[in-house]
Amino acid sequence: MSARKTVEHIKNREISATDHLKTCLKNLEQTKHLNAFIRVFEEKALDQAANLDRRIQKGEATGPLAGLVVAVKDNINIAGELTSCGSKILNPFKSPYNATVIDKLESADAIIVGKTNLDEFAMGSSNESSAFGPVKNPHNENRVPGGSSGGSAVAVATGSADVALGSDTGGSIRQPAALTATVGIKPSYGRVSRYGLVAYASSLDQIGTFGKKTDDAAFLLQQIAGYDNLDSTSADIAVPDYNVSLENVKGLKIGVPKEYFAKGLDNEIKSGVLSIVEKLKTDGAEITELEMSSTEYAIAMYYIIATAEASSNLARFDGVRYGLRKGDEDGLIEMYGQTRSEGFGDEVRRRIILGTYVLSAGYYDAYYKKAQQVRRILKNDFDKAFSACDVIVSPTTPATAFKIGEMVDDPLAMYLSDIYTVSANLAGICGISLPAGIHSDGLPFGIQFQAKAFNESILFKLGNYIENNL
Ligand code: GLN
Repeated sequence: MSARKTVEHIKNREISATDHLKTCLKNLEQTKHLNAFIRVFEEKALDQAANLDRRIQKGEATGPLAGLVVAVKDNINIAGELTSCGSKILNPFKSPYNATVIDKLESADAIIVGKTNLDEFAMGSSNESSAFGPVKNPHNENRVPGGSSGGSAVAVATGSADVALGSDTGGSIRQPAALTATVGIKPSYGRVSRYGLVAYASSLDQIGTFGKKTDDAAFLLQQIAGYDNLDSTSADIAVPDYNVSLENVKGLKIGVPKEYFAKGLDNEIKSGVLSIVEKLKTDGAEITELEMSSTEYAIAMYYIIATAEASSNLARFDGVRYGLRKGDEDGLIEMYGQTRSEGFGDEVRRRIILGTYVLSAGYYDAYYKKAQQVRRILKNDFDKAFSACDVIVSPTTPATAFKIGEMVDDPLAMYLSDIYTVSANLAGICGISLPAGIHSDGLPFGIQFQAKAFNESILFKLGNYIENNL
C-alpha cells in the first residue's frame, strides 16, 4: 500500500496505527541481521501509535502523516536521543534539540521507528565505514546496499519502515536507492532545512527521502520541504503540491548526455536505461543528445570540495564538545590527537587529511580554488542543458552492488562509483533514482533523472508516469 493510502486508512480507522507499526516492527525483527538500524525506538513508537489511535477514535484532528512509519538516518538529530553518525567519536552524545525535519515529522504525527546505519559521517558509498558494522543488501546478503544512507534504503526495501530520511552529499540517497530497488530523491540545495543534520560538506549536503514508489518519496518530501530561518541556506521558495502525475509525456524534452553512457558503464545497465528512454520516446517524449564535457572532472572536483569542507566541519569533534575524550592526562594537544585517532575510522581520517592538504597554503590555489572554478563551469553546463531539455537521464550507478569487502582497500575505485551522482550536488539541482530493472547477476539497478533547481515536481511526475505506464 502506498504511504498516502496507509495514512488514509489509518485516519479512516480501517487499520490502526498500532497494528501498522507492529507489521513494520515484525519486518524489522525478521531482517535484523541486515544491520540497517543502529537504534530502534520500539516502546516509544508503540506509545505514540497507541496515543494516535486514541486521538483518531475520539475524532480529533491528526497530522498529514498520521501513523506513517519513518526511519531516520543517524546523522539527523532527535532531541533526547543519541546521534552517532556511524562513528565512535560522538558516543554518548545525545542531541539537546530536534532537527527541523524531525519537528516537522512530529507535528505531522509520523511515527519514528528508529535511527538507521550509515557510513561514518556519511562518507562512503557502501555503508562499510560505519563503526556499527556494514549493512547487507536484502537482494544478496554478500553485497553492499550502497551508501552512505544504506540503512535507510534497506529499512524501506524490507518494509521495516514505510519511508525514510537520508542525506545526500554526492549520491548517498540515489545510489543506495538504485542498489536496493527503492526510490530516492535528492532535493535541490536549499529545498529542505539542514538545521540539525550533522554537516559533512555544507555546500553539498541535502536531506531527502526514500520510498518504495515515487509517490511515497514525494509524499514525505512534501512535509519536510520549505523555508526555515534556522538554516541560512534554506530557500524561501514556495513548495508546490507533489501529488502530481502526467497524462502523457508528449513534448517532454529528455536530455541524454553522451558522457553519461561512455566507457566504464556496465552494458546491461546501459541497455536497461536506454530501453526506458526508448519507451518514453515511443510515448511522445523528445530525446535530445547533450554534451556535458565537465562530467569528466566531476569526481575530482567533488572529492576536493567535499573533503575540504569536511576537514573544517569535523574540526569540532575534538574531545571537548562532544562524546569521546581520550588521553586527558597527557595535556590538551595529546588529548585532541588521541581522541581523534581513536574516535574516527580510516575513511574519515583519510578525508580530513586530504581536505586539510587541499586547503593548505601553497596548495589552496592549485586544488581548492581550481575545483571551485571548475564547479562553476559544471553549473554552466547544466544551465545550458536545461535550456534545451526538461530532464537529464543517466544510469544512477555504473554497476550493480559490489561485494562487501571488495573495495575497502581501493578507495579510488569506490569514489568512481559516484560518477553519475556527484554533479547534481555540485550544481545544486535535484535528482531522483528509480528502479530500472534487474541485472542478470540478480541485482537491481537504477535510472536517474535530474532537473533544474526547485523543479522536483517534474521528477515526481515522470517517476509516477514510468511506474504506471511502462
Ligand atoms: N559516496 C560519496 C562520498 O563518499 C557521497 C556520500 C554522500 O552523499 N554522503 O562522499
